[in-house]
Amino acid sequence: MTTLSTRGTNLPRMGGFNQAALLEAIRLGAGTCTRADLARKTGLSAQTVTNAVRRLLDAGLVTEEDVKRQPGAGRPGTTLDIVPASRFAVGVHLDPASVVVVLLDLAGQVVASRTAPTPESEEPGAALDVVVREIDAVLEGAGVERERVLGVGLATPGPIDRERGLVLDPPHLTTWHDVPLRDEVARRTGLPTLLDKDVLAVAAAVVWFPGVRPTDAAVVYAGTGVAIAIVSGGEIVRGVSGNAGEAGHVNVGRPFGRCACGRQGCLGGVFSANAIHANAVERGIPLGGGAADAGSTATLRADRAVDDLRVLAESGDAVVVAFLRETGAALGSALTTVCELLDLDTVVPSGPVWERLGPWLEPGLRSVLDAYPVPGHHPLRVLSAAGDGPVAAVGAACLLLDDVLTPRPTGLLLHA
Ligand SMILES: [Zn+2]
Repeated sequence: MTTLSTRGTNLPRMGGFNQAALLEAIRLGAGTCTRADLARKTGLSAQTVTNAVRRLLDAGLVTEEDVKRQPGAGRPGTTLDIVPASRFAVGVHLDPASVVVVLLDLAGQVVASRTAPTPESEEPGAALDVVVREIDAVLEGAGVERERVLGVGLATPGPIDRERGLVLDPPHLTTWHDVPLRDEVARRTGLPTLLDKDVLAVAAAVVWFPGVRPTDAAVVYAGTGVAIAIVSGGEIVRGVSGNAGEAGHVNVGRPFGRCACGRQGCLGGVFSANAIHANAVERGIPLGGGAADAGSTATLRADRAVDDLRVLAESGDAVVVAFLRETGAALGSALTTVCELLDLDTVVPSGPVWERLGPWLEPGLRSVLDAYPVPGHHPLRVLSAAGDGPVAAVGAACLLLDDVLTPRPTGLLLHA
């Protein structure tokens, strides 16, 4: 059992501890679990499993299917699987460049998504209007009634106050101070809502899906800024204030770029859209008109610069290819430090920068990671973030699903 969020959010929970434990086991079993398997996996008695599964069947959350066994392999079994369209969760990623809204079903599949530009005014009220409008539109477009929506997971740049649902002072949203985003979205949508930091939501997407599920990983999110979330022992490391993951001033061990703090060699001066834009300009790489447009925000210019670099890299521009390789190698240097310190074996790069420039960043990243293991150490592998949607928004929905569905001792106390 994984626990993505270690502190309660007071969201309404579904069923009791036993039902939640069974639902989690059924989800991860992906249609292969019988009642006997479930009893073995959860440690619950056969009778308890039978009773709780009956309630899940009655609620329409799971379905059963008779499977024929091979001759001589015992009597036919009945396997259980979740009903994906029985419940949904909304995930929202609000960042300085865009508002992304996804609708996930209970199996974690993206059934609908929308993207809108973040209002250039940066004024919180304008962005809130866009968030609420896009949530309404995604539900309406998918034809999903609110009764089947478990809630909204919001992911924003940090720092945040998770307990109080506040976005504090994000560096790239300069007019935002202590914005009560969670409660405003909950009030205006009528849906239970939680707020988390974007890079931690990405980490949730990495560990929530059945499949690879790395237990010890560094999850990189590179967009307007750059952050690294740590997954250790299957748990997302949140830190004292829920703001773990700040990686802007992690040193990359070489003089490269210029960080906002004034120093060279900070990851934030190398591996974000803003940094890549600035470093490309410094190297005299000719970017398109959009990236130089003085009428737009620095965030939008940097975003366009990433697009321009992709076009140049696709055309085989040797200067651009070398620049991106060097940028990827700098990320690798920062990651080897993190992985060595925490004994991690997996790195998961993600985010808008990686999605567009990954093919040209990865050779540099791998060259450093491959050269890293000292004798006796494990190698470092590079994984893609799970799921096929925009990863921070998907992760925000995963956090919501996890919070509502995952069995916890607190659930046991509340529902005993
Ligand atoms: Zn710095």
